[in-house]
Amino acid sequence: MPAAAVPDDHRQRADAAPVRAGQARLIDSCPLGCTPPLRPINILLPEGPLQRCSECSLLVSSCSAAQHEASLAHWDTTGGTTPDARSVRRFRTVTRRRLALALALLPDRSRPSLLDVGCSSGSLLEVAAGMGFAVKGVEIAPAAAAAARRAGFDVHQGLLQDAGHAPQSFDVITLVELIEHVTDPLALLRHCHRLLRPGGVVVVNTPNGASWTARVLGGRWEGFSLVKLGGHICFYSPAAIRVLAERTGFDVAAVRTRHLRLTEPDSVPRVVHRLAKLAAKPAALAARWFGTGHDMLAALQRRPAVPPGTDAQAGFGSRPSR
Ligand SMILES: [Zn+2]
Repeated sequence: MPAAAVPDDHRQRADAAPVRAGQARLIDSCPLGCTPPLRPINILLPEGPLQRCSECSLLVSSCSAAQHEASLAHWDTTGGTTPDARSVRRFRTVTRRRLALALALLPDRSRPSLLDVGCSSGSLLEVAAGMGFAVKGVEIAPAAAAAARRAGFDVHQGLLQDAGHAPQSFDVITLVELIEHVTDPLALLRHCHRLLRPGGVVVVNTPNGASWTARVLGGRWEGFSLVKLGGHICFYSPAAIRVLAERTGFDVAAVRTRHLRLTEPDSVPRVVHRLAKLAAKPAALAARWFGTGHDMLAALQRRPAVPPGTDAQAGFGSRPSR
């Protein structure tokens, strides 16, 4: 989703959220179920250093539960993820490309059905409906869910696990800018596995924690920010996505990354940022080739059986709306 959709006043209020040190971490072991303890790395954020799992390479925030909760404040708006006028064409193009990737993988493409988890005000549902999908959404934020309903979409306001969807009722499930927000991604993906028909596809879009942008900008990269983007706590690499898929009953049909950023717009003069954007263009092509772009898209295709595990932990399947 376009970062431009974040209103300035929301950024300022989120930035003002208190950050308190010395509390227990929200996440103290690898959310993908790995055995080794998380270890701090040299990317320092206001909440503390990012923690890394040596087995799957997932990066995890050091934030406390209170810091995480504070970061979620002020993100429920009727505007939701509706792209602004300048970015709406790009949003539709990018979304069509993502959904076409899933559609091409389906064994049966006649009247496909789609569930968008964290659908906000329904921007993705609108594009998907235009492509011929029968669409439903789930959105925890009341104002955004209401806006999607007013636009005519069938949206459950609440958590995915409470939505009452029948097993094997969807061909495609979209998790766009969602898994970086959840504490139990295994439970989320196992639930998606149950909801998908055989051969169904989960489309995951998330910041790439192993991107060149992450290496260049470190703790200054907006993708790592807990407060600016409403609770980013887990940062996947392509390798971590593969581990997530393997442990939840999916094959990785595709992982693609795009984009490289050398500066953040609020950290340097505007002219420097513009020059840096120009300079990054050729390198961004290389980043796409090497799988080190910062915008990661994965298509995970449902295997017949899910590995044993539990999805009893509550709270998955939601992300803050904006
Ligand atoms: Zn791990």
